[in-house]
This record gives sequence, C-alpha cells and structure tokens, in this order.
Amino acid sequence: MTATPDDATPSSPSPLVTFELVTLFPDLLDGYLRASLLGKAIGAGIVAVERTNPRDFAPGRHRSVDDTPCGGGPGMVISPVPVVAALEDLTARRGPAHKILLTPRGRLLDQGQVRRLSALPRIALVCGRYEGFDERVASFCDEELSIGDYVLSGGELAAAVVIESIARLLPGVLGCGLSAAEDSFSAGRLEHPQWTRPLEFRGHRVPDILLSGDHAAIARWRRREAYRRTAAVRPDLLSLHPPTEEERVWAEEWARERGGQDQNDALSAQEPRTRP
Ligand code: SAM
Repeated sequence: MTATPDDATPSSPSPLVTFELVTLFPDLLDGYLRASLLGKAIGAGIVAVERTNPRDFAPGRHRSVDDTPCGGGPGMVISPVPVVAALEDLTARRGPAHKILLTPRGRLLDQGQVRRLSALPRIALVCGRYEGFDERVASFCDEELSIGDYVLSGGELAAAVVIESIARLLPGVLGCGLSAAEDSFSAGRLEHPQWTRPLEFRGHRVPDILLSGDHAAIARWRRREAYRRTAAVRPDLLSLHPPTEEERVWAEEWARERGGQDQNDALSAQEPRTRP
C-alpha cells in the first residue's frame, strides 16, 4: 500500500527514495504521512512509503509474533521468524532494500547520517515493539539506528523521524531549495536566529542589521550568530567541525571582550564598599 494524500495526484513513476515500513502497526503513521510537505512529496511521487506487517507472516492460528524471553525476564520479545519472512517478502515483491533495524542501541542518527541515507533508493525501516527483537533479527539487517538516547514504545515514531529527515533533503520536497542547506547541522553549526514581523513585540525588537538591506553584512552577521549559538550550547559540534578562520577571529574578539569584562568585575570587587 502506498500512502497518497487525498488532494494529490501521483505524477513521478519512480520515487527518489522508497521507504519500506516493517511494522506491526501499519496504519499508525498514515495521518502523519498524508500531511504537510511529506504528504506532498509522497503525492508528487518523490517519496514512496510501503508497509509490510510481520504478523501476516507469523505461523499458527493466532499469528503470534512474540514470545517470552529465553532465560526469563519481563515482557515479550519479537521472534525472528515473521520479521525475516516480512523482509524477504518485500524484497521479492519490490526489490532489495537497505535494511535498518530501529533500536535504542543503534548508531545515533544525526544530520550526517541523514545525508548518507538520503542517497539510498530503497530503505527498509524495521520497527520493534514490546521488549524489542530477538538478537538474530540484527543479522538480517544492514545496520542498526537509534534516534536518541531514550526509549520509545515502538519503532514507528523513529521511522517517521528517519523518513521526514531524509525526505526534506530530496530535490523538490522543500519549497525553497536553500532551506535545507541553511538548516541547523548542515555545516556543523546550529542555525542562526530568525525573526519575522512585527518588528517590535512587547519591547523586543528585530535586530537593526536585518532591516539594513545590506545582504553581505546580514549573511556575515548570521554566520557569526550561528557560531556564537553553537559555541554556547553545542560546543561538541565544534570539535567535529573545527572553527573556520572567520570564526576563530570572532572567538578571539569575544575572549578579549570577556577578558575586559572580567577585569572590570575584578576591579570593582576590590573597591571598598561604601555603606548607603
Ligand atoms: N528493551 C529495549 C531496550 O531496552 O533497548 C527497548 C524496546 S522499545 C520498548 C521497543 C521498540 O521501540 C524497539 O525495538 C525499537 O524498534 C523502538 N525504539 C525505542 N526507542 C528507540 C530509539 N531511541 N531509537 C530507535 N528505535 C527505538
């Protein structure tokens, strides 16, 4: 089944990326996949989303997909039997896919990983539930991916994160081709701060430089603010993406300013206090 928004007509015969959702809850993301830019991308045929339910491949009258953990313990573990059969079925029907097991123990998804994955034509996203998968499922997948150091109840939201982050990098998905290139993390920096109208809101004004019409100065100011923000809240990004020459100069300026300020603070701390 391919998700198509109500108001869109498929036009492109071959999507840039096809996602194969392997999930026990194939309808869970339907509303999300129909809405907004993602819905339009699917409607325009740039992205396709197929679903395969491992339960359809579970043996027995009850089509049970899970069982108790060997060795004891709480919860239920998803059996490799229906999951691997589902992966084989989708491969036989639509061709090989890069198979990603969604799991909190996987490699952390970041913008670099998103860029890497966006070059793949067909990606299977294997969503777990309960206590997760029998260990053997991993040997039938190409990689393991986590969307963050926290635990969700199922892989479907993680799959939605992967789909959306990849889709917005594909040509034709975003209205303005530049938007993704300027997003946070695209150059190892957080995005610069943004403002819109009204120019004055409850005493907070849009910075004058943004109203100056000087595009070169605005671009430089934005790079500087992006660097300032990254250095303040995500210094880990600076070790992955070392400062440029321009950024080094700014950092020295700020250090000098701080030095001056620290000196003033130290001097005023030494001044004798006069009682009021
Ligand atoms: N017992 C597992 C553990 O401690 O790692 C957690 C299982 S979790 C309740 C059920 C499923 O949700 C997982 O198999 C996985 O598919 C998905 N999931 C949960 N957190 C995730 C995360 N941070 N990234 C990707 N998938 C996640």
